[in-house]
Amino acid sequence: MKPFLTDILKVSSCVAIIHILQTSPFPDDKTGSITTDTGSVAIGGGCKKGLPPPLIPGRKTLFLDLDETLVHSQVGAPPEHYDFTVHPLIDGQEITFYVLRRPEVEELLRAAAKSYEVVVFTAGLEEYASRVLDRLDPSGEMIAHRLYRDSCREVEGGKLVKDLAGLGRDLAKVVIVDDNPGSYTLQMENAIPVAPFVDDLSGDRELQRVMRFLEFASRFEDTREAVAFFLAGEDRRPVMSPVMSSGSGIRNEIFKFDDR
Ligand SMILES: [Mg+2]
Repeated sequence: MKPFLTDILKVSSCVAIIHILQTSPFPDDKTGSITTDTGSVAIGGGCKKGLPPPLIPGRKTLFLDLDETLVHSQVGAPPEHYDFTVHPLIDGQEITFYVLRRPEVEELLRAAAKSYEVVVFTAGLEEYASRVLDRLDPSGEMIAHRLYRDSCREVEGGKLVKDLAGLGRDLAKVVIVDDNPGSYTLQMENAIPVAPFVDDLSGDRELQRVMRFLEFASRFEDTREAVAFFLAGEDRRPVMSPVMSSGSGIRNEIFKFDDR
């Protein structure tokens, strides 16, 4: 098995896997060549499944990417560090994935579920991703919904994007956390970018940062405004969002959130 088959499997569908076998071996979902959960190849179907009505009206919805945002996984020889394995059937073949949890992933899910509707939105295959999510949230109490590849939208060039519109949620009440900027190009104003996680168990603090954002965003009616303030605060450059109302009185507070 090729060492990078893990990435191929996550993005593959029965109509596409052959076409990407000879592309870059490096998992980099920022380049769109081979990606961990966002494909760069033409995929049949897509973007057909949405969400049921919210259980708690008015609650904000947090869309979390899976691969390189919450976990990193790979196939082949067992890596030095991994937390568990999953064994999905891919095209009739059982594949072993070695999965490493990102630091603070459980803390993030637990904290988010208290005040947000948590939706994991991955462009990965359900056969693989559902098994990983069963391990991250075995009781099913933290993740309200799961959206897989068939909920992504295929755009020009065959790339998959996570279109938050049309899912039955008010865009003023949603935020997406994803390591791949290509995933949220349709709703950039709703996105908190995170650095991709591979195996930095000692220095990775990105999910702590996401938790700070969730707390920060609780003060805002419009999550897009919260995103704009939060990201501006990290850059130490206040930037006004197109949806930002004037005189919100919290500008001075954004600099509390720059200790990444
Ligand atoms: Mg990702």
